Amino acid sequence: MKQHNFSAGPAILPAPVLKEAAKAVANYQGMGLSLLELSHRGPEFTAIIEEANALMRELLDLPSNYHVLWLSGGASMQFCMAPMNILNENETAAYIDSGVWANKAIKEAKLFGKIDVIASSKEQNYTFIPKNGKVPKDAKYLHITSNNTIYGTQWAKFPKSSAPLICDMSSDFLSRPFDVTPFGLIYAGAQKNLGPAGTTVAIVREDMLGTVQRALPSMLDYTTFIKENSLYNTPPVYPIYVSMLTLRWLKKNGGLKGIQRKNKAKAAILYNEIDRNPMFKGTVTDKADRSLMNVCFVMEEKYVHLEKEFMQICKANGMSGLAGHRSVGGFRASIYNAMPQSSVQALVNLMADFAKAKA
Ligand SMILES: *Cc1c(COP(=O)(O)O)cnc(C)c1O
Repeated sequence: MKQHNFSAGPAILPAPVLKEAAKAVANYQGMGLSLLELSHRGPEFTAIIEEANALMRELLDLPSNYHVLWLSGGASMQFCMAPMNILNENETAAYIDSGVWANKAIKEAKLFGKIDVIASSKEQNYTFIPKNGKVPKDAKYLHITSNNTIYGTQWAKFPKSSAPLICDMSSDFLSRPFDVTPFGLIYAGAQKNLGPAGTTVAIVREDMLGTVQRALPSMLDYTTFIKENSLYNTPPVYPIYVSMLTLRWLKKNGGLKGIQRKNKAKAAILYNEIDRNPMFKGTVTDKADRSLMNVCFVMEEKYVHLEKEFMQICKANGMSGLAGHRSVGGFRASIYNAMPQSSVQALVNLMADFAKAKA
């Protein structure tokens, strides 16, 4: 039976994308060859990466001074690659500590320059987005995490900053329209909202580069990938192909405005149930920070002993990936772009039925 996939990542992909992707593995465009066996320099893959780049530019409405790069190493590689390429030893960068991923970005950045953590919600287990930070005048950039996958918090509106923004958008990339011009760099691992694990998209503004003094290894230098159109070495061919299919699907389904409308509707159904149902409560303390992608909730104290039972009922009803991260507990329903509203409704129905039977 096809499962309702609430996994936080690698996560659900659109059904038509998976179908097409499977076909390409067996026999790409009737060539009698698998896409997995084709040269990354051949005409087939050239067409794929060009279409992926064009769709990305169109969907995000990217100005010409931004480059779209397809990298490897995950978002975690960007934690070091970004400061390595942008921050000199004697320069300062501001970071906002909104969760474990932000924390890892901070740890890596400290290897390359002076890091000023201007706000943190760590003491409250990251149950809200800390917005009280002041960006120092001399900051080269401000690093934020747009969506905190583990805690279910999201910047509803990006912070204003005199310094360019660098953003880890791994878990809400392409989930809503936004103005890219305040961003100097955006990066996202594909496996949450775009494609399979194995490629990471970086969108770099030209003026961010060329000012660091240090020598950079070719494979960790954004300019290498800009010059070679992401084809300096063998790129993650298949993850890029599947990402391209997802971009096509996004465009066909109303682009970022269309997907935002659907994402808002899905999240509202689930949050309404969490707020209405006497058995459950959300873990995010400031409702304005609630993520539209990862919905975290637990059972009210009185009912905590029933968490296991409810999880078993979810499993019996074909729902997978609902366990909360170990640092939060309870439940986390990841409802990325590809998650149909019917799956969210199915979960809400189970929550309502369970409360009726047990509360
Ligand atoms: C999953 C995730 C990461 C880690 O991505 P990798 O590709 O595994 O390195 C980083 N940041 C955020 C916000 C994530 O959700």
